Amino acid sequence: MSEYVNVAEIFGCDVFNDSVMQERLPKKTYKELKKTIEEGRELSLEVADVVAHEMKEWAIEKGATHYSHWFQPLTGVTAEKHDAFISAPMENGKVLMSFSGKELIKGESDASSFPSGGLRATFEARGYTAWDCTSPAFVRHDAAGGILCIPTAFCSYTGEALDQKTPLLRSMEAINTQALRLIRLFGNTTSKKVTPSVGSEQEYFLISKEKWLQRKDLIYTGRTLFGAMPPKGQEMDDHYMGAVRQHVGAYMKDVNEELWRLGVSAKTQHNEVAPSQHELAPIYSQANIAVDHNQITMRILKKVASRHNMHCLLHEKPFAGVNGSGKHNNWSLTTDDGINLLDPGETPHQNIQFLLVLTCLLKAVDRHADLLRESASDVGNDHRLGGHEAPPAIISVFLGEQLEDVLEQLIRTGMATRSKQETPLSTRVKTIPEIMKDVTDRNRTSPFAFTGNKFEFRMVGSQDSIAPCNIVLNTMAAEAFKEACDILEKADDFEMAVHDLIKDYAIDHQRIVFNGNAYAPEWEKEAKRRGLPNLPTMVDAIPALTTEKAVKLFETFGVFTKAELESRAEIQYEIYAKEMNIEARTMIDMATKQIIPAVIHYTTVLAKSINEIRAVGVYDVSVQTDLLQQCTKYLKAAKTAMNKLKKLADQASAMEEGRDRAVFYKEKIRPAMDELRKPVDELEMIVDKEMWPMPSYGDLIFEG
Ligand code: ADP
Ligand code: MG
Repeated sequence: MSEYVNVAEIFGCDVFNDSVMQERLPKKTYKELKKTIEEGRELSLEVADVVAHEMKEWAIEKGATHYSHWFQPLTGVTAEKHDAFISAPMENGKVLMSFSGKELIKGESDASSFPSGGLRATFEARGYTAWDCTSPAFVRHDAAGGILCIPTAFCSYTGEALDQKTPLLRSMEAINTQALRLIRLFGNTTSKKVTPSVGSEQEYFLISKEKWLQRKDLIYTGRTLFGAMPPKGQEMDDHYMGAVRQHVGAYMKDVNEELWRLGVSAKTQHNEVAPSQHELAPIYSQANIAVDHNQITMRILKKVASRHNMHCLLHEKPFAGVNGSGKHNNWSLTTDDGINLLDPGETPHQNIQFLLVLTCLLKAVDRHADLLRESASDVGNDHRLGGHEAPPAIISVFLGEQLEDVLEQLIRTGMATRSKQETPLSTRVKTIPEIMKDVTDRNRTSPFAFTGNKFEFRMVGSQDSIAPCNIVLNTMAAEAFKEACDILEKADDFEMAVHDLIKDYAIDHQRIVFNGNAYAPEWEKEAKRRGLPNLPTMVDAIPALTTEKAVKLFETFGVFTKAELESRAEIQYEIYAKEMNIEARTMIDMATKQIIPAVIHYTTVLAKSINEIRAVGVYDVSVQTDLLQQCTKYLKAAKTAMNKLKKLADQASAMEEGRDRAVFYKEKIRPAMDELRKPVDELEMIVDKEMWPMPSYGDLIFEG
């Protein structure tokens, strides 16, 4: 890549975006397609044919040889199958480059090898990918050449969603309908559409590729399963926003350039709390594009790292004892004419529409806290939530000083008559201009925080898709808006009715608001007293998907059927069991083939040394003997723990798929893994470093 880049020039250059379409498509086709994109109209095959042709011509100019429907099955990552543009060779042996509307709109894929959680058994194994024209196609360049990637939804033969995109798009339709109803009540007749806006901040670790290759746990599971703490951890806070090291800077530069080319608006980058941890945040965009862009971002982060001889770890907790990685999902609702429904304005107490939106959201979060928690669960996140610098597994809402005060007035007197205003912040340095203090002052400990004009959901894991939490956010907000509109549309006195409703919602759902320190242990007790759900692990959270309440919510808005929800729960249990099984087997493998032999080697060296020292007539070998005894003790403990883990892992493997098996992994295998880790980490601290069979935490995160 060139030394200097002209960002404005390269931004979006590999995307079939609006300006390309406007330039290349016949006017009529462009208009028709825009109607589909903006108003959700159906797309005719005739239009699709013209679009496909132009898309192909453009993609070939960009160096593409293949096209691929690019979709997001329930594996957490994206899937694709490349087809060359070539048609059958002609009589003269040459080929034409072709791509039809049908190929653009619809692809067929055998669904049987993707997670379908029972839907596969009930229905046909055939799956379809269908073009999502609301997320632009792009040409991706990598070792496979140029591939035209077409964002698509993935469904079963009978239309059941087998992916993340389909329900996300359904939830976006639901929130659009209900939010429009709500703003109409307040006299807005001009906005045509309400879209959830999402900006996701992505955290990741960067380590040396060479060292990564020496750790089977990182290779197979994405996290370290063993590892003693180095003498220095993150206690000095010297990494957070510290100077970016040169080789990391070179990496970030390449990541940004690749993302900009693909139209991903990578904006902010900095070092994170833990050594070797970093963050990248884009400018927000509409929800389904943000979800796609986050998938692209994760892929580019990995790909570019490899080119720089580094490895990017997206796991939520690659290293015990230091900060884990998450993804902050910033969410708001924006109209097509640029109004943010979550913008409180200068005087929120007078902004009745905002207060209704806000209290509806409090109601939604309070009612569906379990679902929101579930949406952020993956196996890795179990190690992060409630740990260093991560929100607890209990959902609560942080409002900030100003809104908390308005809410209190509402609850106390039924009327909010004033809003606290920003106060100046003085540095007592004359040359520094006076700045205003934010009234939504940040509370970094809250899982769901109001931050100025958006909510920030901080629970999502760093390697997880942000689709599930946005599906839940959109749908539960749609439900709360619907219930409010059902009442208000019938009200004789709108002013009175809306006033009463806001007050009622504030009173009924104030328990979900918590402005204190959510990392503190007292909060757990307080939350329990308030009756808020505390679902510490993924296995505890999965049942939230299939409660009567969840089924009613999702079926009402056509986002999921009961069968789809049940299949998703089943898939979650399966994923949990599979990943835990890989972790347990990797531990056993490393202990058997690497760690135990290394310790035996070391103890042999010690024993030999004891004999040899005695042979020359020195009789004080107490240090060597002491070490030998310690090693032997831990070695024995490790072997016993390993045997136990192996037995349990075999037992688990023999169990039938489903909840019971997942529970077994959580309750039996996880503690057995901890039991094995303990003596091994002790050994790592005493065994000669030269003999330890893998890089240490210190090697990985300080010297990466
Ligand atoms: P932080 O201090 O948490 O890093 P930022 O102000 O940098 O907060 O914003 C974080 C993310 O929130 C960015 O991706 C940004 O684009 C996004 N964001 C900003 N405003 C909105 C909004 N109205 N709706 C959704 N996301 C937003
Ligand atoms: Mg943030």
